[in-house]
Amino acid sequence: MATATIQHQTENPFEIAQQQFDIAADLLNLDEGLRRILRVPQRELTVNFPVRMDDGSIQVFTGYRVQHNITRGPAKGGIRYHPDVNIDEVRALAMWMTWKCALVNIPYGGAKGGVVVDPKTLSLNELERLTRRFASEISLLIGPEKDIPAPDVGTNAQVMAWIMDTVSMHRGYTVPAVVTGKPIDVFGSLGRADATGRGVSIVAREAAKHLGLDITQASVVVQGFGNVGGASANMLRQMGARVVAVSDVSGGYYHPHGLNIPAMLEYVQRNRTLEGYHEPGLERVTNRELLELPCDILVPAALENQITVANADRIRARIVVEGANGPTTPAADEILYDRGIFVVPDILANSGGVTVSYFEWVQGLQEFFWSEEEINERLERIMVRSFAQVLDLALQRKLQLRTAAYLVAVKRVADATTIRGIYP
Ligand code: GLU
Repeated sequence: MATATIQHQTENPFEIAQQQFDIAADLLNLDEGLRRILRVPQRELTVNFPVRMDDGSIQVFTGYRVQHNITRGPAKGGIRYHPDVNIDEVRALAMWMTWKCALVNIPYGGAKGGVVVDPKTLSLNELERLTRRFASEISLLIGPEKDIPAPDVGTNAQVMAWIMDTVSMHRGYTVPAVVTGKPIDVFGSLGRADATGRGVSIVAREAAKHLGLDITQASVVVQGFGNVGGASANMLRQMGARVVAVSDVSGGYYHPHGLNIPAMLEYVQRNRTLEGYHEPGLERVTNRELLELPCDILVPAALENQITVANADRIRARIVVEGANGPTTPAADEILYDRGIFVVPDILANSGGVTVSYFEWVQGLQEFFWSEEEINERLERIMVRSFAQVLDLALQRKLQLRTAAYLVAVKRVADATTIRGIYP
């Protein structure tokens, strides 16, 4: 389908999120008033806050929490620590969370947070102080019934534990459901750590099945080897696929016969980076080259704007499964579509994380915990159902999967808004 609504090429994530929304709004013939509501975030908080560093100096950091929409439930979405964090990125990520939660039909709105910082430059103590102070600064917004953060790029289960503890100290009692993605020992959920990667591998398998591709014969390239990329590579390998290349910030690692993913995961666990990893027959490639390697399934699982007009015509994958949020620009999307490359969009492909976050939140509220099998089964059901629903609509209306996913998600949020009415 020609996406005539794309007026100009941009790499501003918020403009991209709005362009994607506009395409769906046009196709849905969405009422002008509803468009005005859903095109912008409902709440935005910017905080500049001091942190005492180990050397005694005081540094001031900037952070954000944006709630795009809370019509279908409490705001939900991760917190990112990265030097490139900015308000438009956080706005986009918050909007994508709204659609993601609506698409898999969990009772949440969308939010995102971020701090402009490279966490690798901080000591553990500095990281803890920064996290606790940021949690205090945004505590007017967050809470189990209001807004529930989770890990994202540069944060992890330990950071979530500190946020939970900080909010709990303020309140004077333990509040497990204020964040998800916590360590198992402090009210985390079994299966949460691998959930995004598990979801990615499930939709990759479903996409392969649809295209008549045997997953056990498939070759896979994964960009990013963090929580999402690492687990995606591992799960696809467990399904029998051959993972020929992965990368992290140190660059790409390629082996045409398949990499030893368990060894790489262990290496990263020990060294925090793939830098220095070696196995016989290994070739080094850049992150750019990695995206252009011939493969059946490409999983961009790092940051935004990786597949753009600059490289979209050189992508040699049959299927792209977006583990990251926003890895493909709208202009690149069109090129991939025209070239017959099957793209499973972020709001569907990486929704396994927030889905198990929802399970964790429910368990925390009830103080009643489920088995890992139960969690994985429920996740599998939701991913398979959501993929089928999006694929059916895409085939029926001859749309890209992204557009079909947006149609389902935006309609759910728009309908909820209409039924609730506009206050006052
Ligand atoms: N940061 C993840 C995402 O982008 C997870 C969000 C969550 O679990 O709330 O989907």
